[in-house]
Formats: sequence, C-alpha cells, structure tokens
Amino acid sequence: MKNVLPNKILAWYDNHQRDLPWRRYRGFQDRIYKVLVSEFMLQQTQVKTVIPFFNKFLKAFPNLKKLSKANLNKVYKLWQGLGYYSRAKNLLNTAKIVQSQHKGILPADFETLKSFPGIGDYTASAIMAIAFNKDFIGVDGNVERFVARLFGYKNNKKNFKNSILLKLKEIKSEDNFSKFAQALMEMGALICTPQNPRCNICPLKQNCISFKKKDFDYKIINKKKVNIKKYYLLYALEKNKILFFNNKNKLLQDFANLPLISYKKNLFDMNFKKNSFHFEGEPKIIKKNFVHNISNIKMLIKIVFFKRIKKINDNQFYWIDYNKIDNSLLSSFSKKFIELVKTKKIKYV
Ligand code: SF4
Repeated sequence: MKNVLPNKILAWYDNHQRDLPWRRYRGFQDRIYKVLVSEFMLQQTQVKTVIPFFNKFLKAFPNLKKLSKANLNKVYKLWQGLGYYSRAKNLLNTAKIVQSQHKGILPADFETLKSFPGIGDYTASAIMAIAFNKDFIGVDGNVERFVARLFGYKNNKKNFKNSILLKLKEIKSEDNFSKFAQALMEMGALICTPQNPRCNICPLKQNCISFKKKDFDYKIINKKKVNIKKYYLLYALEKNKILFFNNKNKLLQDFANLPLISYKKNLFDMNFKKNSFHFEGEPKIIKKNFVHNISNIKMLIKIVFFKRIKKINDNQFYWIDYNKIDNSLLSSFSKKFIELVKTKKIKYV
C-alpha cells in the first residue's frame, strides 16, 4: 500500500514526461552540468521560456570548464531576454568556484552546494535529487500545489510548507529519487495545473482529497505588495549619440543605463553633483506614462527630452552611438525605451 502513490506517479512520468533538453545528456558530468544550468534558468521562469535560452547557452558553454572561463558580458548577452540577471552572474561565479576549488566537479553535498552563489535550499535540493539521485525533493510551486491538493491541505497555516515536506517524506519513492522529484514537478506542471486541473486524466484522482471535495483552492491569496516608484528618464541626444549613466546600483551596475532620477527631485534644478550637468533650452516631457515593472516594483517614468546638453563634468555620464546601441548590454528599462525609439513610438529627434 505504501508504494501505491509513488508507483502511480512514477508510472505516469515514464509515459508522459516531456523531452526537455536538460534531460538529454551524455554521461554523468554532462547530466550534472545540464541540471545545474537549467535549475538556475528555471528560477522564476517557465520551462517553455527557458528552452531556447538553455540551448543557446549550452552551444556557447557546453561544459562547466568552458563556462568557468567565460567573460561575464558574454554570459549576460546569452541571458538577455530571460531577466533576473543576478542568476547569470551567480551561475558564472558558481562555475568558477567549482572549477578552481573542486577540480571542476560539482560536489554531491547539500551544504556545499548551498555555499555557492545563487544556490538556496530549493536549488540545492533539486540538484541533489535530480542530478545526484539523492534523497531530496525540491518543493517548487508546482510540487506544492500538487501535494496540497492531493492531501487537501490549505495554505492558511504557518506549518503549511512543513506539512507538505512531511507528507512527501511519507510518500516518496524508496530509491528512485531523481525520477520521483522530476515526476512530482511534471505532475504539477502538466496535470495539476494552477487553473482547471486535469483531473479527468490524473492517475491519482481516486486518491485525491481535492477531487473528492471538488475544492481545488489550496492557497490563501497573499499578494505581494507592489511598490510604486516614480522617476524621470533623461533622453538627451548629441549628434547621433544618446546619453547614458553609470548607475552604481548593484543590480544595474553591469549594464548601460539611461539616466534616471527620482521624481521627487526638482527637475529644473537638476545638477547631479553640483553643476555637473547643464542643458540648454527647456527640458520637455515627451511621454508621461512609461511603465516598467521589476519584481514587485512598478516604475512610473516620465520621459524628459533634452535638445542640447551644454556641459557634462560628471564622468558617470557617457554617450553611446545610436547605430551601435545593439552592441551594448542595456538594462531592461533602457532596452524597453530604446525599442520605443527604434519602432518610432518615441521620436528620435
Ligand atoms: S485529481 Fe485533480 S486536483 Fe487531484 S492531484 Fe490530480 S489533477 Fe490535482
């Protein structure tokens, strides 16, 4: 009886698992490397979005050694469009540490994995289970939903996550940890979907409490608070060049950023560091409602156009030739703005 649930889950997985590129490997080290890269890419991103990025990435860096010698800008370029760039930097740094301190072999040890940049409890558990076939399970949103519905748990108690983990320990496969961990994720992604779970084809419907009760809401919605921040974005041109700014913010410092200033400051007294930035003529607001979302921050941006910049003393400012802008690694809001210019939704004056 104890094996009924895991056997049903594993049998379903044998017949229905997706053919994903990180599930195709040649040899043990290749498998570990592919699991590592895919787990970084899948953090907060859906499988179908990740696949083309994963394929391109593996083409450029087919193994951990190659990745460990990579240049951060190249890694960022390949990550462009996937978002959350800190993952790219952390993956590269993890590869460097593994190459230099662990002879290029990713250690099969939970605590050591967690000591690497960008690897927390979930990613370490997923790698331990999927790559090394160890007795771990990474509980992502898909697994949580599937198990909660199966056992009729509601996310309204402090110990909800713990209850899921305890239940998983009870029902887990005895030896096939890798396959079981992936099967749970796949069940959550393909069958026990957030909306309209596909109970009619679910192998567990006879065992499922939510199905019996016809009550599939397991989550008490606890929406993340959205922070609204207001900015001016300075759009300044000189001949064929656009003004950029070296932003010292940790998340932006590796990118080319259009100058942003907080809306609270007085636009017409805008001297970044004492008289460093002078302009001729009146700055003109050419767009009032440029919106950009980053995580739980909603940026409300007014675009301010400057016809002529008279003097820039601050070496944090620099120009980029408009025709060469595609060679630069733009921050997400800058990229979005430049797309508006390219598609003539904002005039390149
Ligand atoms: S029967 Fe329905 S609710 Fe229950 S686990 Fe299967 S898909 Fe999810």
